[in-house]
Amino acid sequence: MEECPICHTSVEEILETGFVGCQFCYDLPEIKKAVDKMYGGKKHKE
Ligand SMILES: [Zn+2]
Repeated sequence: MEECPICHTSVEEILETGFVGCQFCYDLPEIKKAVDKMYGGKKHKE
């Protein structure tokens, strides 16, 4: 399980709660992917 090297929040925890521990959490590849999905990038949800 991957975790943030700065705040040690695990990817699993972030995905579960929807909250990152710090701004560096966004640098985790799995979080980037999840954020893209969650916020839909440039596409709008129907
Ligand atoms: Zn972090």
